[in-house]
Amino acid sequence: MSQNKPGQIKFYNGEDLPVELHKVRIVQKLNLKPVDERLKAIEKGGFNTFLLNNEDVFLDMLTDSGTNAMSDNQLASMHQADDAYAGSRSFFRMEKAIQDVFGKKLVLPVHQGRAAENIVSQTFIKKGDVIPMNYHFTTTKAHMELNGGKIYEIYTDEALKIKSDYPFKGNIDIDKLKELIEKYGKENVPFIRMEASTNLIGGQPFSMENMRQVRKIADENGIIMVLDASLIGENAWFIKEREPEYANSSIKDILNEMCDICEIVYFSSRKVSSTRGGGICTNSEELFNKMRDLVPLFEGFLTYGGMSVREIEAMAVGLYETTDETVISQSPGFIKYAVEELDKLNIPVITPPGALGAHVDAMQFLPHIPQKEYPAGALAAALYIISGCRGMERGTISSVRLENGEDLLSDMELLRLAFPRRVFTLSQTKFLIDRLKWLYDNRELVGGLKFVDEPRVLRFFMGRLAPVNDWPQKLIAKFKKDFGDSL
Ligand SMILES: *Cc1c(COP(=O)(O)O)cnc(C)c1O
Repeated sequence: MSQNKPGQIKFYNGEDLPVELHKVRIVQKLNLKPVDERLKAIEKGGFNTFLLNNEDVFLDMLTDSGTNAMSDNQLASMHQADDAYAGSRSFFRMEKAIQDVFGKKLVLPVHQGRAAENIVSQTFIKKGDVIPMNYHFTTTKAHMELNGGKIYEIYTDEALKIKSDYPFKGNIDIDKLKELIEKYGKENVPFIRMEASTNLIGGQPFSMENMRQVRKIADENGIIMVLDASLIGENAWFIKEREPEYANSSIKDILNEMCDICEIVYFSSRKVSSTRGGGICTNSEELFNKMRDLVPLFEGFLTYGGMSVREIEAMAVGLYETTDETVISQSPGFIKYAVEELDKLNIPVITPPGALGAHVDAMQFLPHIPQKEYPAGALAAALYIISGCRGMERGTISSVRLENGEDLLSDMELLRLAFPRRVFTLSQTKFLIDRLKWLYDNRELVGGLKFVDEPRVLRFFMGRLAPVNDWPQKLIAKFKKDFGDSL
């Protein structure tokens, strides 16, 4: 079927805007509460955007996890769900979708991405193991360490530069990989993990060429490769856009090739297919059998894995939709627009634009806040207060406290503003950019945060913080001066 892609639509007036190639059929009303109410809400939520009630949020840019818009076909598919504990027809439709889209025969269903990480980690990691990867994800790292493993991030020198035009900041550095395996011994490396559209460093993709180079090292050492495919659709899109060899390939072929390089592929379908749930797949019976018994133990029977059959149906349809360029390019298109506009305004933002969201660099945005006072968390709270837009801290709050009582300072302090697929409009995006600009012009009014209640594990989810002084009041006073009391 020939069809124009979002990036191909040209304007007579020369503007370069992402055009929505879908129409709105079901809507949800949003609230934009006045600034005083937003302050109360964030105080109640311990200055942690995870603890806000969505009712108090205008644009929910916390995450793309489970928040992508579902398609008409996904919703329709839920009506044919086959309720059965064992052997549901819904499961077999999903299994077929995974086989088609990822090219792997053997499928284990799980209730979400971290459940896959639990099973992979418990099965393959023993105490003292070393796991090389392009970059960690929060839940990945937690599960691997829980099983006694230690993760090593062997990204390229470009990966952590905020401003860059390097197209594949998610690549693994091949020399560092070789050194690492040599240093710790291949027998202590259970697998090499590659994460598509590397989440925590700005949704940055790796190239197919890099995957092939990693494969070569893996083969030389008899090590398997595990692909975290939660954001694989977008990574495939960037391969098509940025790796000339693939300019004319279909997304489906790219997906198949990526998965073919790795023995095990796991994913969160909260991201990849706009539903809930997740899965693990492989072509190796040996690897499959090693993991299989943990599914009934932690998830549910092998034909539902903790998911409802309705979710399983929608996941099957969503997986096929992930091979559709007009579907998967929508979010990167809006992110590109937002990143380029923010960059024009000199607001520090990760470039090149990646998947998942726009990532604002809080260390440059708020250089007066030391990392110990959590600049990215402060920026997330401040943006919410002045706009009702909810982003997510991806910095030292999302890191851990060391045994000596100090924070493990994070490599980057990012405010992530997620653009779930097909959810926000262009004027909403412009509103976000406008408020970020106001905040940037008034950035000296934003101060730091401190923990008042700090959980031991994954503290960013439930931790409660407080401002180090009365900066929120000063920020609001200036905001009201510029916008009045009601906004
Ligand atoms: C979200 C995510 C996970 C975890 O998935 P959940 O469904 O939220 O448990 C794992 N890896 C990556 C790269 C992710 O983005």
